[in-house]
Amino acid sequence: MPADYHTHTPLCKHATGTPEEYVEAAVAAGLDEYGISDHAPCRPEPFDDWRMLESELPEYFDWIARAKQAAGDRVTIRAGLECDWIKGCESFIGELAGKHDWDYLIGSVHYLGGWDFDNPKWLGKWAQTDVDAVWAEYWKTYAEMAESGLFDILAHPDLVKKFSYAPAGDLDRFYDPVIEAIAANGSVIELNTAGWHKPCAEAYPAPRFLELAASAGIGLVISSDAHAPTEVARDFPKARELAKAAGYRESQLFKQRQRKGTAI
Ligand code: ZN
Ligand code: FE
Ligand code: FE
Repeated sequence: MPADYHTHTPLCKHATGTPEEYVEAAVAAGLDEYGISDHAPCRPEPFDDWRMLESELPEYFDWIARAKQAAGDRVTIRAGLECDWIKGCESFIGELAGKHDWDYLIGSVHYLGGWDFDNPKWLGKWAQTDVDAVWAEYWKTYAEMAESGLFDILAHPDLVKKFSYAPAGDLDRFYDPVIEAIAANGSVIELNTAGWHKPCAEAYPAPRFLELAASAGIGLVISSDAHAPTEVARDFPKARELAKAAGYRESQLFKQRQRKGTAI
């Protein structure tokens, strides 16, 4: 397996494990590259209770260095961040981009307005919302993130389906404009296997979105979103089959924010 670029560390306060344990899991899974991409700081601090603080960045760099030490030449370690796309965050993301020799930055939409809609804490709110309107806002925000050009990888494309709240009927009306925005910008998307373990019981994105992305020539990485060492590269064989069925022949590798294709 080429790489798992979306993984977390305990600095985000909701992940477990040591760098050594993650590295052993990556080696056992037969990965060529293991990328670390914990939840990036957001301003103003404290922004919420599920990310590292800006003052913890040095600890994050130490964690990455420990992973490199543990890996030796058994698996290549890549350094990234999972950044939240929030209106007005552009200059801060630019600042973060200059703070380390990153291999990639991942962009995610977890917030709509002040609501982190994928947080199980606020699950009750979903039952009281207009699902169509939330979906429309989500995909508009996702397209804006793609258009910002700030990120190498766009995370879990249809995370908005996490708790199984989805509009009825054909969803292409949401997918088409965002596929166009991503294709025009050149960033790649994730096939994120964590969705199989959430109420939606489906990887992010849905097979139909993946097909549209493959047809539009949008690059792909397969990611686990591991929050524990046992989750590294979880369900990757199944994900590879899904990607191939959607028309993908390649996935992407990242080094110092440059990408190249490799056989999936
Ligand atoms: Zn997380
Ligand atoms: Fe995420
Ligand atoms: Fe994540």
